[in-house]
Amino acid sequence: MKEGIHPKYGKSVVRCACGETFETGATKEAISVDVCSKCHPFYTGRQKLVDTGGRVDKFRRRMERQK
Ligand SMILES: [Zn+2]
Repeated sequence: MKEGIHPKYGKSVVRCACGETFETGATKEAISVDVCSKCHPFYTGRQKLVDTGGRVDKFRRRMERQK
């Protein structure tokens, strides 16, 4: 590779709308995305919908009572 003819390519931090951050290789230093592999519906399925309504909190309270 000759120097000077390629754009600067290095590590950049990708920040997702869900709060997840991860490093990748890119010509930009920082990238913002709306969805990542952690929160994209394709990977999470219906997890977001299941967690609505405080079901997780109810489950935790039930576990607390069993102690
Ligand atoms: Zn995300």
